[in-house]
Amino acid sequence: MSLTVVGTVAFDAIETPYGKTDKIIGGAGTYIALSASYFEPRTNLISVVGDDFPKEYLQMLNEHHIDTEGIQIKEGEKTFFWSGKYMENMNVRETLVTELNSLEKFDPVVPKKYKNTEFLMLGNLTPIIQRQVIERMTVKPKLIVMDTMNFWMNTMLDELIKTIGMVDVISINEEEAEQLTGKHSLIKAAKKIHEMGPKYVIIKKGAHGAILFGEGKVFSAPALPLEFVFDPTGAGDTFAGGFIGYLSKTKDISFNNMKNAVIAGSVAASFNVEKFGTERIQNLSIDQLNERLAVFRELTFFDIKSF
Ligand code: AMP
Repeated sequence: MSLTVVGTVAFDAIETPYGKTDKIIGGAGTYIALSASYFEPRTNLISVVGDDFPKEYLQMLNEHHIDTEGIQIKEGEKTFFWSGKYMENMNVRETLVTELNSLEKFDPVVPKKYKNTEFLMLGNLTPIIQRQVIERMTVKPKLIVMDTMNFWMNTMLDELIKTIGMVDVISINEEEAEQLTGKHSLIKAAKKIHEMGPKYVIIKKGAHGAILFGEGKVFSAPALPLEFVFDPTGAGDTFAGGFIGYLSKTKDISFNNMKNAVIAGSVAASFNVEKFGTERIQNLSIDQLNERLAVFRELTFFDIKSF
């Protein structure tokens, strides 16, 4: 099988200046797998939920050809719950609640058919679990990409650093890169993260795009300027899903192809923010993705050769 994702499958409650939701489906693993599914139809998902998690949500993942055999359902336990509030400036978010629930004692079981996966995406969750998934693969994946967040830097930095040392690519947002390295300059931060292990570093800058560093090269992709951003939740995960999904589809892990993968991630993320939660990323078509790819081309094209 080609692509395996591990990450939270969760309930989220979100508040933005445009509205508020009750508990809806969320989680890093959910966004990543949904986004990747448009590029790589054979996506596996490893996670854990409680018995309060609706079967319809699992069915919805299966309708996107996401294999959910790796999702454990824990009887008598509750699903991971996260709640966040966005300020008028949607780049600023406050986490109101993080309840680990069934994630707390999660011991990931990697189904046999996932064990020789070529592409492994470690979505945001406990760094120890991310590491266990790497260790439980029988064949070393061709590429391991990881995402993380400040919560794990604040609660288990040493474990996080060990996991970072085992991956090829890390995708991290600007503030988190600064927190992790103590460097304000993105170039210095990326250098310090390279020293920790990952050969490639992607720094996400929210509404201002993403920068890929690796092999001494740099590539910068914009985010699509949008008049209305309804809900940025999961944008980083959707980006990561598009990135790894595209690499898994094309099977080329050169820096040049990673540039295309960054664009695939940016295109997918530009849809995700248009509606609350996973609603937009659940309902996309390849034609819509291709139309937006053309918009991205237009946005970044210039033909000056010299002054
Ligand atoms: P993002 O907006 O890309 O940071 O991702 C938001 C998603 O991450 C939400 O759907 C949450 O359920 C999930 N999430 C929030 N906090 C954590 C955490 N500490 N570990 C794993 N997933 C989380």
